[in-house]
Amino acid sequence: MKNDAKFWKPIGNNKVQCSLCHQGCRINNDRFGLCGVRKNENSKLYTLIYGSCSSIAADPIEKKPLYHFHPGSNALSLGTVGCNFKCLHCQNASISRATPDFSYMQEINPDKVIELAKKRGCEGIAWTYNEPTIWHEFSFDSSKLAKKAGLYTVYVSNGYIQEEPLREISPYLDAINVDIKAFTDDFYKKVCKARLEPVLKTCMLAKELGIHLEVTYLVIPGYNNSVDEIKQFCSWVVEQLGKNTPVHFSRFHPDHQMTDVPRTPMETMFKAYEIACDSGVLYTYLGNVPHGDYENTICPKCGNICIGRHGYSINLDGFKDGKCVKCGTNISIVI
Ligand code: SF4
Repeated sequence: MKNDAKFWKPIGNNKVQCSLCHQGCRINNDRFGLCGVRKNENSKLYTLIYGSCSSIAADPIEKKPLYHFHPGSNALSLGTVGCNFKCLHCQNASISRATPDFSYMQEINPDKVIELAKKRGCEGIAWTYNEPTIWHEFSFDSSKLAKKAGLYTVYVSNGYIQEEPLREISPYLDAINVDIKAFTDDFYKKVCKARLEPVLKTCMLAKELGIHLEVTYLVIPGYNNSVDEIKQFCSWVVEQLGKNTPVHFSRFHPDHQMTDVPRTPMETMFKAYEIACDSGVLYTYLGNVPHGDYENTICPKCGNICIGRHGYSINLDGFKDGKCVKCGTNISIVI
């Protein structure tokens, strides 16, 4: 659905510059930005996806993944089409590379989002499946209504949103999981057509704005799996985001234009876990691996399992009133 876009300015010769994300596209008349959903029509920028939804489902919050935020709840999860990154290993290419005329699109309005969330017994809304930044106008309007209706709101993002739009939505955004795709600018440039630094700044700003933050790092063999790189990433998390920030290492599987790279060996995943613990990260998790202890929330003081997880089923017996039931240590979880 076409709507006025926010965060842009005319720059002469019928061109406009978009400042919603750090790509900062300069767009000629009758052309789209890199995300493929924002179009310059007669020197004015429009979003073509306001209220256009490619996927809707009630998902466990653990699926995002967010492990320290309303554990055990369901979030009405919505995605649209397009993306402001061009990751060679994209795991959602069927929608991230689709255009606004995508045949499975359904139109929805912010009131309907809230109504659906309540009808399906969800405690919140998650903007996910593809990059929510590029859906800003719609996710902002809907998130405002969601807060009024007592629902939480969540972004699952690549962290490329610019400061002004993040500040705008921050009063209505409770949590964000940011994918830190590697810890080198070279990887971001070659694999994602983006840069590392703005992503790190978004994480720090999210923290400053009081948005609950968890980070995910997809470990890809031969690309971002060196001990040094993972050490640098973990040290940065501890120093800049705080040791309480949950870190999710996710296991790569071949996809999209990176089908020649093998799955991440389990030993690499265990090594990443060990590096994070040694670096001082208090809550580390492994994703896309066979079920085991690596998805549990462990008390950093006494080792008690505070929250046990098996897939999306959870056991909260070891956690009460924000504390470990065994030793009383505060476990930083938003409930
Ligand atoms: S939101 Fe889209 S059009 Fe705007 S700067 Fe980012 S990629 Fe370009």
